[in-house]
Amino acid sequence: MSYTITLIPGDGIGPELSAETQRSLEATGVPITWEIVEAGMTSFEKSGNPLPQDVLDSIIKNRVALKGPLTTPAGSGFRSINVQLRQIFDLFACVRPCKTITGFKCALQNVDLVIIRENTEDLYAGIEFKEGDGTTSRLIELVKNTLNADIPLDSGISLKPISRTATRRIARFAFNYATINNRTKIAAVTKSNIMKFTDGLFFDEIQKVSGEYPAIALEHYFVDNLCFQLVSAPQKFDVLLAPNLYGDIVSDLCAGLVGGLGMAPSANIGDSCAIFEAVHGSAPKYAGKNEMNPCALILAGVMMLRHLGESQAADRLQKAVDLVVQEGRYVTRDLNPPQPVGTKEMADRIIYFLQDTSKSSMKNSVTI
Ligand code: NAD
Repeated sequence: MSYTITLIPGDGIGPELSAETQRSLEATGVPITWEIVEAGMTSFEKSGNPLPQDVLDSIIKNRVALKGPLTTPAGSGFRSINVQLRQIFDLFACVRPCKTITGFKCALQNVDLVIIRENTEDLYAGIEFKEGDGTTSRLIELVKNTLNADIPLDSGISLKPISRTATRRIARFAFNYATINNRTKIAAVTKSNIMKFTDGLFFDEIQKVSGEYPAIALEHYFVDNLCFQLVSAPQKFDVLLAPNLYGDIVSDLCAGLVGGLGMAPSANIGDSCAIFEAVHGSAPKYAGKNEMNPCALILAGVMMLRHLGESQAADRLQKAVDLVVQEGRYVTRDLNPPQPVGTKEMADRIIYFLQDTSKSSMKNSVTI
């Protein structure tokens, strides 16, 4: 079967990582036609529009996209295109596997966990009230009148909506994911002792859904304690189920446990389409330097192959990445080799092993 996939090369380091990911995916032999469209800062600088209609049309048509990181201007300017894409396509589930590669020297071994993050609500919903605006003053007044709570008049405010509907949906997704992938327990991540009406609701609804899945154990961690437990004993975790903000932060922490942001892939999944990307951002100061690790985006490509049902090609590409990292010679600076190589050279080595492993047995392959 052949596939047409939307490719958004991205900003900053995105284009060079996307090019190497394209090459690696093509080397699996899976026939892919790329439909290349631009979004983010690259598109904004060319046309004044960071999210042109052709990007949306392409994703609607192809239902699967691979996306390089997109820059979000800090403080002011356009809203995150990454967040907007998740909201427009209702990509409600973000899946971020974190697994140590056997043989790769890092501080911790035998970590194998998956973060499932609710992707549409919470403080990332983009419902914000700017300091000094009339609507902000009216909201401050409403809060004063209804809750008798004082918010300083020079405040900006972001809302944190968490609904039962969205929580039920992500909880079912997480329990189904755990069932299909032979995972045995899910840890819900909240701060429900403080935010009872949002995080409390999140955990309450997860508990209800867990009743439908008696084979999967449910645990509950407050996010601050979870961070401590993760850096002390991450091996005890299996699936983490978190609302949007905690899920984002904990993903970077977990990426740090298993080799850094250069090794951390991510899938954003909805009912009608899916977008695959790296956890990391566009790291603009490294753009065009051929220095950054291509593996996070290549591993996102592995997740994309699995999503397409191309599991053998996915196994082979993942195995090739594992072998290159284990070998430790043709890897980028972030993986601490004696002599770092560039982005392209690391991808060359992955493709070399990919072509080699296609002839050999895959019995030691691990699955993302
Ligand atoms: P970043 O992830 O871009 O970079 C932080 C640091 O991580 C870098 O300085 C680098 O040391 C390291 N790093 C990142 N990617 C790496 C790779 N492939 N290999 C090795 N090391 C790597 O985070 P930032 O600097 O906070 O954000 C830069 C821009 O990216 C911002 O505009 C931000 O909004 C955006 N961003 C986009 C996404 C996305 O597209 N999904 C995610 C996060 C941040």
